[in-house]
Amino acid sequence: MSENINYEAIKERDSEIFNYLSLEVERQKYVLNMIPSENYVSKAVLEASGSILTNKYAEGYPGKRYYQGMANVDEIERIAIERAKKLFGAEHANVQPYSGSPANAAIFYALLKPGDKIMGMRLDMGGHLTHGHKVNFSARFYKSVQYTVDKETQMLDMDEIRKLAIKEKPKIIISGYTAYPRKIPFKEFHEIAMEVGAYSMADISHIAGLIVGGVHPSPLPFTDVVMTTTHKTLRGPRGAIILSKKEDRLANVDGLDEKKAKLEKNLARKIDRAVFPGLQGGPHINVIAAKAIAFEEAMKPEFKDYARQVVKNAKVLAETLLDNGIKLVTGGTDNHLILIDLTPLGIGIGKEVAVALENAGIVANMNTIPYDPSTPFKPSGLRIGTPLLTTRGMKEEEMKIIGEWISKIIHDYKNESLQKKIKQEVKELCERFSFY
Ligand SMILES: *Cc1c(COP(=O)(O)O)cnc(C)c1O
Repeated sequence: MSENINYEAIKERDSEIFNYLSLEVERQKYVLNMIPSENYVSKAVLEASGSILTNKYAEGYPGKRYYQGMANVDEIERIAIERAKKLFGAEHANVQPYSGSPANAAIFYALLKPGDKIMGMRLDMGGHLTHGHKVNFSARFYKSVQYTVDKETQMLDMDEIRKLAIKEKPKIIISGYTAYPRKIPFKEFHEIAMEVGAYSMADISHIAGLIVGGVHPSPLPFTDVVMTTTHKTLRGPRGAIILSKKEDRLANVDGLDEKKAKLEKNLARKIDRAVFPGLQGGPHINVIAAKAIAFEEAMKPEFKDYARQVVKNAKVLAETLLDNGIKLVTGGTDNHLILIDLTPLGIGIGKEVAVALENAGIVANMNTIPYDPSTPFKPSGLRIGTPLLTTRGMKEEEMKIIGEWISKIIHDYKNESLQKKIKQEVKELCERFSFY
């Protein structure tokens, strides 16, 4: 990595930042990064993110801006929009959201009034903060109803979710999670939303790359609104997009004249206006260019191979862990992530085990497990994933080796000499799979 990426100007200008940047280059090079929400972007995506497009202000949308000098950036944003629509099969795309959380805020702002009811999965079951968690804006400005996973199977129970939706009559039903290792039945979610008169919303931040790679069912074209971050399995820059239907199925046009009724039914316009001027200012055109490049990369046949390999790797990793007596939430995985249940070894030891793994050069994160007997600050689970290792070119053979290492460390997580020994082996493996 260091041969090809140099930060000469930073080195000259700011030695403090340069120091940590260099250390981070080394860290990324020599650890097995298994945080399922991260990825390594291509050099082209990296270049676009750091390009001179960062200098340009572009409030508004292509052809409807508030500043001059838009000839090039208009084209860049248009290309990004067209590619996003094509990649996902969407009727409408907004490529301006700064990140996933503000994109979700924009969706609620577009479709709901303060105090309306939203329904999403509980954070400690694998949901996201912005899906109605009590400390988040999504539960302060809206009424939040939360569903869970089944206690036995640890999977979605669509009958229970339907019952809750019928009882609570939310205005929007959110599917899509941060720590759910199984397939999501988007069609059923949409049908429930239709039945109770709610919007359907799918937040596919974690699995967008798997969806466009054809290894996870897509919520398009039927779901009303779909949000995805661009920086997780999709392997683009840090940011998000909103995909939607053109028409607002639930628009209330009673008493409106024809012109107003037409605007009220225009879902695409509502989303765009919520992003800007509703919530954001100038879009980050440098990041939009990087998104466009990432969408193009994701349309290539190689990306399908990548997505398939991500899932294959996760399956082999899960099997290796199971063979070594490690307990997994839902007993396995269908996607890119695995949630390890550490309770047979101790309640609330997620952090300790994550630190033990990092000492061995394996980077993961502590996580709650469904119905965790401990607290979110001291959870009993560990979340790992294969997107980054797969980008580095690792396959089943490496997953078996890594699965053995992880199992050994988990079973003996206070053994520091074991961690040290494995760290050396991790370094050697990383050297064989360089990137950049
Ligand atoms: C990552 C994620 C987000 C938020 O993305 P940020 O860019 O971190 O704001 C939202 N929803 C889900 C399901 C996610 O996984």
